[in-house]
Amino acid sequence: MNPSTRIERDGDVALIYINNPPVNAGSLAVRQGLLAAINEVAGDPTLIGAVLIGDGRMFIAGSDLNEFGKPLEDPQLPVVIEAIEQCPKPIIAALHGAALGGGFELALGCDARIAVEKTVVGLPEVTLGMIPGAGGTQRLPRLTGIPKAIQLICSGARIKAPEALDLGIIDAVVDSDLRGTAVAFVRHMNGKRRLRDLALPPVEQSCIDTASAHALRLGRNRPQVRAAIEAVLMATSLPIDQALAAERQTFQALRLAPEAFALRHLFFAERDSARLPEVSTAAAQTISTVAVIGAGTMGSGIALAALQAGLDVVLLEQSEQALEAGVQRIRDFYTQRVGKGRMGQSRADSELARLTATTDWTLIGKAGLVIEAVFEDLKVKQELLRRVEPLLAEHVLFASNTSYLDLDAIAEVARRPQNVLGLHFFSPANAMRLVEVVRGMYTAPETIASGFAFARRLGKLPVLANNAFGFIGNRIYAAYRQQCEYMLEEGALPAQIDAALEGFGFAMGPFAVADMSGLDIALRMRQARADSRDPRARYVAIPDQLCALQRLGRKTGAGYYRYDEQLRRHEDPAVTALIEQASRDKGIERQPFTDQAIVDRVLLSMVNEAALLLAEGVTTRVGDVDLVMVNGFGFPKWQGGPAFWAAQQDLAELRQRQEALAKVTGPGFVKGDLALFHHLHNRPVTAATA
Ligand code: NAD
Repeated sequence: MNPSTRIERDGDVALIYINNPPVNAGSLAVRQGLLAAINEVAGDPTLIGAVLIGDGRMFIAGSDLNEFGKPLEDPQLPVVIEAIEQCPKPIIAALHGAALGGGFELALGCDARIAVEKTVVGLPEVTLGMIPGAGGTQRLPRLTGIPKAIQLICSGARIKAPEALDLGIIDAVVDSDLRGTAVAFVRHMNGKRRLRDLALPPVEQSCIDTASAHALRLGRNRPQVRAAIEAVLMATSLPIDQALAAERQTFQALRLAPEAFALRHLFFAERDSARLPEVSTAAAQTISTVAVIGAGTMGSGIALAALQAGLDVVLLEQSEQALEAGVQRIRDFYTQRVGKGRMGQSRADSELARLTATTDWTLIGKAGLVIEAVFEDLKVKQELLRRVEPLLAEHVLFASNTSYLDLDAIAEVARRPQNVLGLHFFSPANAMRLVEVVRGMYTAPETIASGFAFARRLGKLPVLANNAFGFIGNRIYAAYRQQCEYMLEEGALPAQIDAALEGFGFAMGPFAVADMSGLDIALRMRQARADSRDPRARYVAIPDQLCALQRLGRKTGAGYYRYDEQLRRHEDPAVTALIEQASRDKGIERQPFTDQAIVDRVLLSMVNEAALLLAEGVTTRVGDVDLVMVNGFGFPKWQGGPAFWAAQQDLAELRQRQEALAKVTGPGFVKGDLALFHHLHNRPVTAATA
């Protein structure tokens, strides 16, 4: 008896239950059980048909990704689906919770699909570096038409049952009694309704071209997006069995390609990151009203994120003028969204109606969580906490959005320092997914649990960091930017470094980023830390010299680059001359760099710093490093993150390169233990074992 499936009977209809907790992942045992059950239905003359249905919370959340990095064991999913199609009796899928990936392909192999209203369906394979490999690219377009199938498959979108009904993907939405309705549905069916037998809905070629171009753009032209489009188009040109075989072949190749390993690694890292043993017994508070103090760049973005998540927001400022500027930023966001047709006016109005913008600090008492995003100055933040805390009930949490300040020094002025945590958002805070949840020495487990729950409620990805300068992300960023500055002195130019890193897949190179944020921000930080700098450490004066020339980046029309009126960047001979002079000043003979050498050095500097963070306990999970760099710093997700990169390298060679890095960096360079990355989950198998 296979415990992953079981058959019940309701008179002449069989109910085939999928039971693989917690999410009914489609594993080998599930496939074996389904195949046996379908054969039983086919051979039992007392049965007229069957219902596939999930036990527990859902139908099937997707295939078991643990199987995807290895040879797949038989029976594979297409064989199960073939058995459904060849069974002479109707088999329908009764969906609840989620039917995603292979789970949804299984449903598409059935003769009909019914679902409860809250069900989501979709084919997210592309987001994991693959394409659907069990007929999704052939059966879905027979229901939706080619353009919509391209859009859904290439975006990996999850759609809710009512929309799926409108698109013809499912046949009925059920209010209650999924099981009973499904059994009745089978009894009313008039024979088989295999999707493979349907003709494609007719469509103009221009619609297909538009959908393909759009999907490629949104999917950053990744190989699996191109492959998905090609596979869907095969539905127009090949007999279905040939198209299914070709789809399967592409799927098999892509699931073992490096990109799929990288994306699976991030998937597992995200799952592991959410498991916090240290707070597993701590109860999270449910926050329904949040107060945000400071309506500048970050405060208005955080307020916006909370409004969009359905929370009530009290936004506080020190002056009416600053408050109005912040509120205007929020309003502008909604005006733009409505203007572009991405949001209805009534939704915008209702979200805005939950905003209370005020300079009356007594209103803060309504909040369950206060987030400060005021100036980055310890005294200002301490003063603020002293002023605010007496206005708050005992349980209310206080979060700082500080980037670099010592959270413990902020918490020290509190009467309830256990309620103080860091919630480090990234700019623009409403759009960026990462939030570093910072634990100080006083922070209580319940406070961390609540911070995580709050960030998730905002649709963000919370990652735990212990209190330390720059937490995880900014520490790593500073280390790699420093190496980029060294490379300027040694022979590279900003445009080459940026192009090399953008070629690797970074959203933006570090010098373009510096120009965008403003060179004065880093200058102020260097000034603030000048006293603590090791006088022997290698120091690059180029950024200071640019600031002295008032080249502060985009906002002054020039920084590392010169900017035209459309804010497009151009190389500037004046900067080249300044950099070459800097090399001469230090007696450095400039050497050419290959793009690969630039990328390798940057990645090595990131992993070296990450190893130090792990050794210092700022983070305890290797995978969290990758989540931070991918979700907060534009590291290309299809490369898996710096730790994942390190796990692919030869350790001895990496250590040799680390020696070289230590030498060229000079005093102050600390070597991290690079072996820390070599036990990463889901490391690629070699071609031989695949
Ligand atoms: P900002 O200068 O745009 O906004 C700060 C706002 O705080 C101003 O509107 C100011 O009027 C207000 N303010 C200052 N003191 C106040 C007080 N005592 N009471 C009420 N309001 C007060 O700054 P920002 O870029 O939004 O940064 C805010 C915080 O977020 C800083 O700690 C910064 O380090 C951090 N942060 C910034 C970024 C970023 O990219 N800008 C990213 C992450 C974190």
